[in-house]
Amino acid sequence: MSSKVEEDPQKGPWRQGKSQPLANFLQPRKMMCGFCDYYFRQENLPGVTTARAVLEKRASLGIPEAKHHLEKWQPTRLYATTRLCAFCEQLFRPLPEPADED
Ligand SMILES: [Zn+2]
Repeated sequence: MSSKVEEDPQKGPWRQGKSQPLANFLQPRKMMCGFCDYYFRQENLPGVTTARAVLEKRASLGIPEAKHHLEKWQPTRLYATTRLCAFCEQLFRPLPEPADED
């Protein structure tokens, strides 16, 4: 007669908790949009601009820390490129040239 409590052989000494499925590691890496800070797959980040352009746009929207960064960041950091999502990219397109009127 055994009074020993049976242990679950599946329990094991390994770490408890959820492990990530392998598919999570095989998915393409997501990158952050430089303007809205959301993560997208690389093919959904079609835009490229400089950190300075992003900071100027944020400063024009009244974000105080953007003005601070514009004054304090080194030029090498300001002119580093950053990727933009499809939505934010349209905010950084140059305005169309006004039509010449003769
Ligand atoms: Zn974005």
